[in-house]
Amino acid sequence: SEPGGWVELREPDLATEEPTGPQPVVAVVGRPNVGKSTLVNRIIGRRQAVVEDVPGVTRDRVPYDAQWAGRAFTVVDTGGWEPDAKDRAAAIAAQAETAVATADVVLFVVDAMVGSTDVDEAAVKMLRRSAKPVILVANKADNTSIEMESTSLWSLGLGEPIPVSALHGRGSGDLLDAIMEALPEAPAIVEHGPRGPRRVALVGRPNVGKSSLLNRFSGEQRAVVDSVAGTTVDPVDSLVQIGGETWHLVDTAGLRKRVGKASGTEYYASLRTASAIEAAEVAVVLLDASEPISEQDQRILSMVTEAGRALVIAFNKWDLVDADRRYYLDKEIDRELRRIPWAIRLNLSALTGRAVDKLASSLHTALDSWETRIPTSRLNQWLTALVQATPHPVRGGRAPRILFATQAGAAPPRFVLFTTGPLDAGYQRFVERKLREEFGFEGSPIEISVRPRK
Ligand code: GDP
Ligand code: GDP
Repeated sequence: SEPGGWVELREPDLATEEPTGPQPVVAVVGRPNVGKSTLVNRIIGRRQAVVEDVPGVTRDRVPYDAQWAGRAFTVVDTGGWEPDAKDRAAAIAAQAETAVATADVVLFVVDAMVGSTDVDEAAVKMLRRSAKPVILVANKADNTSIEMESTSLWSLGLGEPIPVSALHGRGSGDLLDAIMEALPEAPAIVEHGPRGPRRVALVGRPNVGKSSLLNRFSGEQRAVVDSVAGTTVDPVDSLVQIGGETWHLVDTAGLRKRVGKASGTEYYASLRTASAIEAAEVAVVLLDASEPISEQDQRILSMVTEAGRALVIAFNKWDLVDADRRYYLDKEIDRELRRIPWAIRLNLSALTGRAVDKLASSLHTALDSWETRIPTSRLNQWLTALVQATPHPVRGGRAPRILFATQAGAAPPRFVLFTTGPLDAGYQRFVERKLREEFGFEGSPIEISVRPRK
């Protein structure tokens, strides 16, 4: 224990590793009735998850979340081409093209009871032109004798056929292993152990009241030490109580020993702020509500959004805000914080203690948003309705289509839109705005990237 009652402990680094790229996509293609939707159900491990097929009607492209051997991926049921379409070759080509464009791996499904048909051979031609790995699935291999016969499918030139019975589950483990081998390298899903106190950066320009606020929390320091004995925290960090809970404030050394402040140049202060934000999950940016929002305040806010951290803006010194100041502050907020309307705002006073405990619930809201994961099916239901109601504007006679979307990661939420071409910046902003309207993400930045097909 050192002067001021601050106790330093050590804690293992609980940094959460998130896969960086989008989830790999596996597309399932093949003639109608070969068992594609049955196979998709088998892969995603649910029954009747896939909409029943109406004969002769092409299903929509529907993505589903799947997992095998600790890896997450997306399965896209590409639907069947119409069996009696006028231009069957064109229909096959279009389907294969879409599958190839958006998938990392293609599952080409053939009916092992029937063997290969002309239509299968036509599809193979299309698929072979792509550089994407294709796995040949001999479905309906319900028994050993059909399984033996399925070896004749070598003739399709796609390598070894993998016999499965989507209906009974036979061979599906081997198929999933083959898919895993074909998928691009990606980090495995990380299982989180019990988590320690959430990491918070308390930042703001000099004199906004950071040390005063920190001192508000210090009174409850004793209880913290007892309950987390044995854990460890970086020597410059502190564990504090806010709203009856323990929080891990990163890099508070300069705040509690008020020396750093006197000696630190603005350059070093800014570096220190950046590294505190980097180390945190959520940042509390303290502003002095009695003064205009400054450029330095803006720079600190940008550091948080650029680092992709959850954000709570605390307007400190609220005790100094009268009706007059309130009027101007509201105008400043409209003007200066327009780009981050999603940030959580809280009015407090480190001096009087006003609303200080409310910080805990603001932090929770921001962290919950930051870690949100939207199931692929829910995301795409929403997206389908959105693009139907407001399609991308036509430019030069063409409009790119959004094929589907997946959430590539969380903390902060990152989304990937698979499209037929680049999207207008304006339309991309529209999608982001609508995404927030639907799912919230209050207190968290989100990222949307577009993956046009190659
Ligand atoms: P899709 O049009 O390619 O999606 O085919 P479906 O999944 O709708 O399946 C067409 C029919 O084949 C359905 O009646 C399924 O029950 C049946 N089916 C699918 N997989 C198998 C299988 O492994 N063995 C057998 N015997 N029938 C299957
Ligand atoms: P820091 O540089 O961000 O750590 O800011 P300090 O905590 O040192 O505070 C700077 C000055 O603002 C000090 O004189 C504090 O007493 C004062 N101060 C901090 N919080 C409040 C508040 O909520 N209301 C008022 N009126 N003054 C405050």
